[in-house]
This record gives sequence, C-alpha cells and structure tokens, in this order.
Amino acid sequence: MPIALSSLAAADLRAWLAERGQPAYRERQLRSWLARGAAGFEEMRDLPGSLRVQLADSFRASSLEEIARSEIAADQTTKYLYRLDGGYTVEAVVMRYPRRSTLCISSQVGCPIGCPFCATGQGAFGRNLAAHEIVDQALDANRRLLGEGRRLSHIVFMGMGEPLANYEAVVSSVRAIADPDLLGISPRRITVSTSGLIPRLERLAEEGLPVTLAISLHAAREELRDVLVPINRKYPLAQLIPAAQAYGVRTGRRVSYEWVLLAGVNDTERDARELGELLDRRLAHVNLIPFNPVADTPYRAPEPRQVRRFAEWVAATGLNVTVRDTKGRSGDAACGQLRARLLQPA
Ligand code: SAH
Ligand code: SF4
Repeated sequence: MPIALSSLAAADLRAWLAERGQPAYRERQLRSWLARGAAGFEEMRDLPGSLRVQLADSFRASSLEEIARSEIAADQTTKYLYRLDGGYTVEAVVMRYPRRSTLCISSQVGCPIGCPFCATGQGAFGRNLAAHEIVDQALDANRRLLGEGRRLSHIVFMGMGEPLANYEAVVSSVRAIADPDLLGISPRRITVSTSGLIPRLERLAEEGLPVTLAISLHAAREELRDVLVPINRKYPLAQLIPAAQAYGVRTGRRVSYEWVLLAGVNDTERDARELGELLDRRLAHVNLIPFNPVADTPYRAPEPRQVRRFAEWVAATGLNVTVRDTKGRSGDAACGQLRARLLQPA
C-alpha cells in the first residue's frame, strides 16, 4: 500500500517534487488542498494532471481508513473508528455546538496509565501514534465539517491515550494543526488533557505553545488518587499541583481540572472540601464529568441530583466549576468504547 502523503516531512515532499521537476510552491498548494478538505489527488484541480497521477501512484491522501462510525443525532456528535497502518484502530469524536466544532482526538492506541474506570485503560497498550496520524484525524474531521458548512475550531486531546506519554508527536501535531498553511487552529483552542506526567508538563510549559492544559484530577487526596489514577504513585498531587499552577503562570492560561464523578467514591462533601483546599481559586477551573459506565469496572455514575449537589459544594469553596456537557459520552459512551464494542467477539 502506498505511504500517506502526510507522513512525509515537508523537506522530503519538496525533494520528491523537485525530482519530478516541480516548483517548490507545489508543496504549499498540496497542503492547502488537504486543509480545504480534498479527499484525493484528483480533486486538486490547480495541479498538473500528470502530477496528480504521479501523486496517486505514490501516496495515499490520508493515513487513516474509516472502518466504523456511530452517529448520536440528538447530540450532534459523530464517533469515527479508524484503522492505522499495521492494523491498530483508534477513535476520534466530532462534537457540533452552535458556535464551535470540537474534535476529541487520540494520541495513542490504548493507554499505559491504566486508570481503573477508563475503557481505554482496560485494554493492552498498542503503540504511540505518529504526528501525522494525529494531524490526519483533524484533517478528516475538518473535511467532513466543511461539507456541512462548518469548520473545525477546537481540539481536545481527550480521546485514547495519554498525550504527554507521546510527547514529541503530540507537540509536533499541535504545531502542524496551528500552522496557518494547514488548519490554522490557535493553540489556545487546543486542550491537552493529562493524567499528570510532571517532567513532560514542565517541558510543555517551555515550548512557547500556549495550549490549554487539563489535569485529570479525580481525587484530592493521595490515597484515593493512587487508585483512580495510578501514575499518582510516581507523580503525587503534592508535586503535580505546583507544576500545573506553574504551567498556568508561565503560559498565562488558566488550568482546567477534570473530575470524573464516581458514585460513593469521589462525590461526597468531604471530596469537595478537599478539592477546594487543594486548588488556588484564581488559577483553576474545575470540570465535573459524570462517569460514563464502563463494563467490567466496579464504578457507577452518581444520580443527577448528587452531581448538582457536588457542584454546589465545590462552588461553595470559591472554585469556578462547571458540569461538563457529556456529548459523545452517550451512545457508545466514553473514549475507547466504540472500539471496545466493535472489537468484542460476537
Ligand atoms: N489520558 C488523558 C486524556 C484522555 S482521557 C487523561 O486521562 O487526561 C480524557 C478524560 O476522560 C480524562 O479526564 C479521563 O479521566 C476521562 N474519562 C475516562 N474514562 C471516562 C469515563 N468512563 N467516564 C467519564 N470520563 C472518563
Ligand atoms: Fe489513560 Fe486517560 Fe484513560 Fe487514564 S483516563 S487510562 S490516563 S486514557
């Protein structure tokens, strides 16, 4: 099978074009077609016909092959399952809002962190995605949205995988997605969600890429977080919070803290009080996410009434708090679940 055009570094693509006697600006033309949603080379009308044939002989336009889709019409949400080179599969979710279109993107096949409530964390770790495989998720989403008179405006790294465990590829995908010649999506509209790999987080603060940081907190005391987010045993809250707040100060971006609400586990008044004591209210925003049930886990979602109560307790500590819209977490539910269902033996 031909390699994906997106997998070629810009310099290699220029060299490929030069070998065929093409001017350097063809590279930009090609990228601009990808950004405008071209699915194949035959659509790239301002390229010479002979070049389009040569391109089609040598490359695929995308590294991703869609193998399943799940529409949640009332929610305006679409989940895609893609096959990657080598046969692994990953999910991406497009969420449509009145004034924005957000893509939940995957950075790894599976996840090495293994949080016990997470569908992705239950399976075996597969591999890191290459930068171009991350970028192709964004290009594919944008292509579909353009067909609906929309365009991709926001990206959250909340699909499969721990983005900071695949640091280089994630950072270079963010740079590519932000490139005005490609999608031109500002890093401020890109959220990197992490379980808290402190050294990588410190490095990210120095990249000059002001992405929004979301820390998956889920517990405000070490013993509980050790269980819910096992990387806490290596990078405990006592070090994570100062590192996250330093990121906020360094980039001027307020940090988000994610809190998946698990009934009877982390939804009590005590948890809310501890959360209030842990975070600096000036620099933090708390997102509550009602748990989306995952088979073979001991966890349950709290009743809506308890979600509201917990949000009030958190707000009473002075923290800024919202209950996250669970778009895309209904139907095939949380990240990794479309894949889990499709890969299950019948
Ligand atoms: N690995 C990264 C990013 C992917 S997970 C991280 O953990 O931050 C994105 C978010 O979805 C995380 O906050 C994660 O805790 C949450 N999540 C995972 N499984 C969930 C579930 N079943 N219900 C609700 N949220 C879930
Ligand atoms: Fe990995 Fe995030 Fe799932 Fe934890 S919640 S297993 S870090 S994807």
